[in-house]
This record gives sequence, C-alpha cells and structure tokens, in this order.
Amino acid sequence: MLYSPAENRYDSMPYRRCGRSGLRLPAVSLGLWHNFGSVDVYDNCRAMARTAFDLGITHFDLANNYGPEPGSAEVTFGRILKQDLMPFRDELIISSKAGYLMWPGPYGEWGSRKNLIASCDQSLKRMGLEYVDIFYHHRPDPDTPVEESMLALDQLVRSGKALYVGISNYGPEAAKEAIAILRELKTPFVLHQIRYNMFDRTHERQGSFKLLEEQGVGGIVFSPLAQGLLTDRYLAGIPADSRASRNGFLKADSITEEVLAKIRNLNGVAKSRGQSLAEMAIAWLLNRPGVTSALIGASRPQQIRDVVAGLKNLEFSAEELGKIEMILG
Ligand code: NDP
Repeated sequence: MLYSPAENRYDSMPYRRCGRSGLRLPAVSLGLWHNFGSVDVYDNCRAMARTAFDLGITHFDLANNYGPEPGSAEVTFGRILKQDLMPFRDELIISSKAGYLMWPGPYGEWGSRKNLIASCDQSLKRMGLEYVDIFYHHRPDPDTPVEESMLALDQLVRSGKALYVGISNYGPEAAKEAIAILRELKTPFVLHQIRYNMFDRTHERQGSFKLLEEQGVGGIVFSPLAQGLLTDRYLAGIPADSRASRNGFLKADSITEEVLAKIRNLNGVAKSRGQSLAEMAIAWLLNRPGVTSALIGASRPQQIRDVVAGLKNLEFSAEELGKIEMILG
C-alpha cells in the first residue's frame, strides 16, 4: 500500500541546530546499526522507519558495515526508500560512514583516501542514492595522517556525494586537529558522533563536549540507552528477544547485580517524574551542553514511540539531577 506519512509529523518534534551550522536535527534520531540487517524481518524494519518519520524523526543514521551481514542495513534502507520514503528525500537527513572493516585487503578499513571514497561509492549504490546528507569518518586511524582522511571527506562534498561531513569516535585532541583542517578547507563539517549515556561519561570527562561547544560543532550521541540497559528491558531478567540475549555487543554477563540495582533506582526516579526510564535517559542527555541529538536504536516501532513520548518532559529539578548523580555514583 502506498505510504502516506502523518500530516502532523512536524508538530511536536524539537529540531536542534548542529553547532553553528544551518543544519537542524531532530532531538531523537534513528540508527540502523542493529535490527535492519539481512537477518531481520523486513516488514518490521519498514514499520520502524515509517513510525520514525511519522513522529518527525527526519534523521536516519547508517554505516557501511551495519547489518549483519555488513552492508545489509544499507540495502534494507535502500529498499525502504524505494518503497516508501524516496518521495520525501528532501525531508530526510541520511548519513553513512566508513572506517571499520568492510572488505578484505589493505583498503577495506581505517582512514585512507582510497578507503573513504570507495566506501562512500559503495554505500550510495547499496542505498540507491545520489548523495548522502552526512558522511563520517567512523573512527580515528592511528596510521593515516588526519589531513588525508579530512581531504577525502572534503572531496566527497566537492564531488556532490555528501552535503556535510562528520567524524566519529575521535578523542578531543584528534577531533581538534580534524576540525582545524576542515575549517581551513571550508568543508561543511557539522557533527561529531560519540558514545554518551548515563552509564558512559567518558567523552564528558575527556572534554569532548566542551570542545564541541567552543568550536560550534554539533554532537550526536550514540547508544543513549546503553544498548537497552537504560530502559525497563532487563528489570525482570534477560528477555529472549533482547540484544543481551544475542550476547554480541551487549554481553549478558555485563548485567550484574550492581548494574541492575542502578537501573532499578533510576527507574524509581523516572517513575516519580511520570516517565519510563528510557524517556528519562533521553531527556537527561538532551539537557547536557553540546548534545544536539540522541541517536537511538530500536527493535520494534513501539520503542520509538515510547522514547519520543518522553520529549514532552525535558526539564529536571536540581534535586532530581542530584539523585541521578548519586545513583550513578
Ligand atoms: P540504544 O542505546 O538506543 O540501544 C537500542 C536498544 O535499546 C534497542 O535495540 C532496544 O533493545 C532497546 N530499546 C530502545 N528503545 C527502547 C524502549 N523504549 N524500551 C525498551 N528498550 C528499548 O542505541 P544503539 O546502541 O542501538 O545505537 C544507536 C545508533 O547509534 C546505532 O543504530 C548507530 O546508528 C549509532 N552507533 C554508532 C556507533 C559509532 O561508532 N559511531 C557505534 C554504535 C552505534 P532490544 O534490541 O533488546 O529490544
């Protein structure tokens, strides 16, 4: 059946500016790292993408290697575009990335010009797109000069394959170097994509957000729900259809009694605010300086609805913030 998106899709989602750029992203963006691979049920993927767009989520985040198998999330998304979303291409911000292992041999990963440009071409082909809105270098490469990787990103923009560029997983020092090069090149650099959630404050401690604010660059934070830990998903054991039960990126044995105690206590604070833990975890992030958008994952449409519902209450009292810090210890 022909997809007709919700007419009120722009009524309640906040759009937040990426640093000092002209680009605005939805407060919540959807990532396709898990659950959009060739092993997943296509109708569910399609329903999640439609649900997201209906709720005003204009930003879909991919990478060459998302799946499994690597590449298949882009193929799935290409199919969804063709069936449903392509008429709305100008309403979408689609990103992809290169840097992690994608094909054998010396050019299939890291940050050479060869890797980044070939990988972007492959991603465009898999998604059936002429350009992506944002193309990222996925991780810093200790062996390739940053200048080479940044010049490759710049070329992707100049050749019309990307509108904006970003970096991901760079520490603040390397990020500073990359930003300086891109600024000199006048490359439209808008976003740094880093992991950040209540349980992982590494980038906050290292000063990444301070840097982003100083430099007028946006911050999009991934795994904002700590892969599902910061939800009610694991309060009563490990459900058979959960990410932890697959024991891949989220290990079942990382859900210790100590972690569960924190989750339970955080859940208590969320309840007292009239929110679910997932809603509160996202609201908390969106209040942190330097955070433009929370990049969530989902395994079913309802999870996306739940998270977006939480955007109605983004304010925290000093007492609530204090309680949360105490629980996180
Ligand atoms: P999250 O922390 O949002 O975890 C997503 C998981 O949380 C879902 O799969 C689901 O688990 C659970 N969940 C989501 N919503 C709810 C809800 N309302 N109630 C209960 N459980 C819920 O993010 P991800 O770790 O998936 O990362 C998000 C995106 O970030 C990726 O898709 C990718 O785009 C990007 N990313 C980027 C990286 C990088 O290196 N740049 C690295 C990793 C991710 P379940 O599946 O068990 O139902």
